[in-house]
Formats: sequence, C-alpha cells, structure tokens
Amino acid sequence: MNEEPVMTKYKVVIDKNKCISTGSCVNLAGLTFKLEEDGKVGLIDQDGNSDEEKTMAARACPVMAIKIINTATGETVWPK
Ligand code: SF4
Repeated sequence: MNEEPVMTKYKVVIDKNKCISTGSCVNLAGLTFKLEEDGKVGLIDQDGNSDEEKTMAARACPVMAIKIINTATGETVWPK
C-alpha cells in the first residue's frame, strides 16, 4: 500500500443500502473504506487510496455498491 499522500481523480460513491458487509472493499482499499458500526460500508477518505486501488475495491464488491466516477471527465469508470 502506498504510504505517500496521493492525489486521486476518481471519486467513489457508496450505496449503503446495497452493502452486504463482506469487507472486500476494506481489504483492498482500507484507507478509503471502512465498515461502520451497523456493519455497512462507510467512507474514510476519498483520497485514502490510489485510483487503481479504489477501482479494484469497487470491482470486488459482489453487489456493486461502489461506483467510481472520473472527476476529470465526469465519466463513470465502474460499473461499466
Ligand atoms: S465490498 Fe461491497 S458489500 Fe462488501 S463491504 Fe464493501 S460495499 Fe459492502
């Protein structure tokens, strides 16, 4: 994991209602995502992990509760 501060251009949007508490996103991007007291995903810091790590975390979510937006272009990176 990158210890340096990272400037990221991908923004994550989480949908707590979809989250089934697998923790996969936390395992892959633990400086961006956390599990809250209700067991559902929460956001720590948009820039906690690199764009690549955030994208991997979103792709690993079995219920597609994480969306990735490229803030430079406005494009939805995930889900496609
Ligand atoms: S990977 Fe998806 S279902 Fe699992 S904790 Fe993260 S948001 Fe919730």
